[in-house]
Amino acid sequence: MDNRALIDIGAERLEAAGVETPRLDAELLLAEAAGVTRSEILAGLTELTPSAIGTYEKWLVRREAREPLAYIVGRQGFRHIDLVIDPRVLIPRPETELLVELVAAAAPLSVLDVATGSGAVALALADELETAAITACDVSADAIVVARANAERLGLSRVKFVESDLLDAIDGGFDAIVANLPYVESGDIDGLQREVAEFEPRLALDGGDDGLDLVRELVRQAPDHLAPGGLIALEIGLGQAPATEQILAENGFVKMASHRDLAGIERVVSARLDPGRQPTA
Ligand code: GLN
Repeated sequence: MDNRALIDIGAERLEAAGVETPRLDAELLLAEAAGVTRSEILAGLTELTPSAIGTYEKWLVRREAREPLAYIVGRQGFRHIDLVIDPRVLIPRPETELLVELVAAAAPLSVLDVATGSGAVALALADELETAAITACDVSADAIVVARANAERLGLSRVKFVESDLLDAIDGGFDAIVANLPYVESGDIDGLQREVAEFEPRLALDGGDDGLDLVRELVRQAPDHLAPGGLIALEIGLGQAPATEQILAENGFVKMASHRDLAGIERVVSARLDPGRQPTA
């Protein structure tokens, strides 16, 4: 059977299983199974070994069960880096690249990435801000293991990882705090795509009743760990920008701005700590 026929069969099976992009996924699975790029597979010149075809078949069964493609192949591209991931961490999303772009443009000398998960945001920032001091934390010890392994593999071991419930175990101050916290309303999680609801860590998604429990707590803790005029940038969900800006205003932040993702959704809110604010301690 040639490559084209294998892709056709895979695409048909994934479509029947309700996968959103069946043909693309079949192409990517076959390419990854053969250890080549998608364009090489499409060119049809790759000689497929029986073992590559066997892997493809096993992976199709997993994708039919709606396991996310990124968990099956074990990696995900993000900005200019490739992250090794597994179900201990949320899969890095394209819209989160906006968060990195915004913080990188501000060129802070020190950054704390809260709830780092796979390390995506912290490691992309370390890759793009070559002299910045980057610290990353997560409440999940499993996530820290995944993130540290990514840092080593990418040659970005200068990023410091700390196991911490929000800022509880964090010492000192930073020029910028960045976070993609869990922000899905608890009641909405079961209604998300099966790939998300059934496979991704609930801890990385569940933001409480209105989705903003962790945002509220982080924004309350952040002023004690930010330089005067320091930047905060938070990824949020659909419709959460006004409430997030209000939370920031109540905690000494100024210059609130919201930034839309490629789908036109207000996805990131940024603000500056009021330089005239008096420290609480
Ligand atoms: N963007 C994710 C989703 O809706 C949510 C990630 C998060 O809570 N930070 O699937």
